[in-house]
Amino acid sequence: MPLLATYRGRFAPSPTGALHAGNIQTALFAWLHARLRHGVFALRIEDTDLPRSRPGSAQNIIDDLRWLGLEWDEGPSIGGAYGPYWQSQREDIYRAYLQRLYAMDMLYPCDCTRAMRLSDSAANTFGQCKCAARSSRHIKLTNYMAGTYAWKVRVAHIPAQFEDLRLGSVQTSSAQFGKDFIALRSDGIFAYQLAVVVDDALMRISHIIRGEDLVEATPSQIALYQLLNFPVPQFLHTPLVCDSQNRKLAKRNSAEGVQRLRLAGADPRVVLGQIAYRASLLAENIPVTASELLNSIQITIF
Ligand code: GLU
Repeated sequence: MPLLATYRGRFAPSPTGALHAGNIQTALFAWLHARLRHGVFALRIEDTDLPRSRPGSAQNIIDDLRWLGLEWDEGPSIGGAYGPYWQSQREDIYRAYLQRLYAMDMLYPCDCTRAMRLSDSAANTFGQCKCAARSSRHIKLTNYMAGTYAWKVRVAHIPAQFEDLRLGSVQTSSAQFGKDFIALRSDGIFAYQLAVVVDDALMRISHIIRGEDLVEATPSQIALYQLLNFPVPQFLHTPLVCDSQNRKLAKRNSAEGVQRLRLAGADPRVVLGQIAYRASLLAENIPVTASELLNSIQITIF
């Protein structure tokens, strides 16, 4: 695969609630990486799942990032060469890639219930479900758009391992990772796995920095890059941030959201300083701006 010449990073939040310290830590890592390498930092709003999106959440995310000084070079309100930067405006693009997978016979229609999928009772050892024996040829693409079936991508070649810039070599096995995955949900919504790969590839993202909760999604995504003949980017999964009871922070818990601090008139330098300190980017917990942090960091830290 050809390597991408220019550093292009991104932050790709779903507007399902308020950004919390873990999301900001991820955005900060992605922003610092891009800035340290004089690359591009893009913001993409992943709002394909409109039923899960919360009204006003995207605007709050945009306001939080600006408030913290994590400005982007391409994205909402700025635009850029690879827009639109709202997934809800990119459905025609996803449809075209779905058509391509269909033409390659790499999709199959799946009518497993959600309960079956969650319990995994439908999956065999190759991570395929009982529906995998079907060929997409039996059902026309237009029929599945009507919402009877979900459509899954066959993960023909699961990479044995991938290199993560923080975690090192991550071993994959079909039992744990890299199962066949849904590209189009039965409710007609394009699934994350398809949209994220198509967007990162078309936006020429060279470095994907995101939370460690997405490590397990990565092998299937690499398989999809390969299937669609896209260059595979570098991955860096950031550590998860937990609350005082050691629970993973969640966007739907707005009490933990940065937005609450912003609206209460907190000093963004204090918030950023705390997050940077917790992420070991600062030796002490002191107020700092994003550009001060940038100037204090050595490229070798990553
Ligand atoms: N949209 C995803 C989220 O907010 C992140 C996707 C990614 O960075 O790959 O959790």
